[in-house]
Amino acid sequence: MEERNSSTTRRDRELLLYDGVIIGASPYMLLEALRLEEAGQRVAVLDRRDVVGGAWYIADLGEFTEVEVGCHYIERCSTAYDLLEELLGTELVEMRPQPFALYRGLAFDRACAIPRKLNALHRGLESRNLKRIIYHCWDLVRHLRPAPRSDTPYRYPDRGCRSIVQALLTRLERSSVDLFLGTDVKAIEISEDRRSVACVTDSGLVRSTFVVVGSCTDVRELSVGGRPIEIQKKQMPHHNIILHLHGTKKRPFSYVESFGISLQRGNHHQPLASSSIGGGIARVSDIGFYSDHRERLEERGELLLCVHVPGEQWEGKDTDDFATNILDKLLRGRLVEKKATLVQAWREKYESPLMTQTELDRLKQEAGPALQTKFTFDLGLGMTSLADSWGSVECDQVATRAAPIAPKL
Ligand SMILES: Cc1cc2nc3c(=O)[nH]c(=O)nc-3n(C[C@H](O)[C@H](O)[C@H](O)COP(=O)(O)OP(=O)(O)OC[C@H]3O[C@@H](n4cnc5c(N)ncnc54)[C@H](O)[C@@H]3O)c2cc1C
Repeated sequence: MEERNSSTTRRDRELLLYDGVIIGASPYMLLEALRLEEAGQRVAVLDRRDVVGGAWYIADLGEFTEVEVGCHYIERCSTAYDLLEELLGTELVEMRPQPFALYRGLAFDRACAIPRKLNALHRGLESRNLKRIIYHCWDLVRHLRPAPRSDTPYRYPDRGCRSIVQALLTRLERSSVDLFLGTDVKAIEISEDRRSVACVTDSGLVRSTFVVVGSCTDVRELSVGGRPIEIQKKQMPHHNIILHLHGTKKRPFSYVESFGISLQRGNHHQPLASSSIGGGIARVSDIGFYSDHRERLEERGELLLCVHVPGEQWEGKDTDDFATNILDKLLRGRLVEKKATLVQAWREKYESPLMTQTELDRLKQEAGPALQTKFTFDLGLGMTSLADSWGSVECDQVATRAAPIAPKL
């Protein structure tokens, strides 16, 4: 793989030819690349970031190496879990306690609509708009039922999404898939006959028979036979703040979605999550537990938590302020015990647009077979649909080192 890439001349680089080009190196898209390669296609994956994983990436933060940046769960789909277990070569572990949603101190099953609806009603009341209030009351009543029963508990890799990312890298290394990191796709140009595509990247053209985009691929320009196609997407900035705390949890959790005041209201602080974006939800994950640092943290009576806040309100604000504010919310939300103190904090921003299933379908209809679209917004559901056409994934031992990456185009 490297030989072919490293020996290409500048002219060759502008005419790299593939059956399929996949934009984005998220777990779903990497699995799709491997699936296509197994089916005999020549495939390239392009990603503008320098790391793989998309929203499931890992990073080194101070003394903590390869930690999961973000708050994640994998939807309760036994097919997706089976596929993941085959890929990892190990069993997923049951999350303890199971992910839950929190509204004013009350815990609900993560899939239950009630806390979301209560939160919407609360915001409706704040707006003092009678029409809105009536609508949200009615909507709440409609959803007053327990979450759908699931026989499958939430499961997760024992060492977090790092295992997924590394298992995929190991498989990629053994495959003929070309992975180009640091390669931004600025435009997708589909030919008039809809049988070929040119991806215009910051380092040259990549030609293929088809291109694959997911729900969160940032498609900026798309044209067919030179005619531009309009793209509807919602841009969503995400802030992850990682807190290294000295202290313990007050209430056990592995992953929690917090609605309403328990994490969001403070007398003199801003709400944790903006109410207009992301529905005012903040997510908190014990990323230290799902990492290689679990034992060390436990011995020292420390925690490594990630808090995910969607929205713009923390843009450009000081990290220490952000961290202190979040810790205050965690204390008020009674997720960590009162004596917990901040050792260190890091923040990471993740920029991600979102295209709905309807929009993806519309683009596909306009662009024809040269554009393949994947609804990737839920990893568990996405993997379930992939599993149907996957066949068998060889069991691999999880790699301890990242696979070498093809050089830039
Ligand atoms: C912060 C966050 C948390 C999430 N948590 C969960 C969760 O817990 N469970 C769940 O099931 N789903 C979750 N999701 C949904 C998530 O979108 C999917 O799980 C999955 O990662 C989506 O895959 P994707 O390829 O569409 O997008 P992403 O994972 O966002 O990956 C997109 C990748 O494509 C690259 N890219 C985009 N545009 C271009 C371009 N023009 N040129 C080159 N590269 C490009 C980006 O750099 C990025 O690496 C989360 C999403 C976000 C944003």
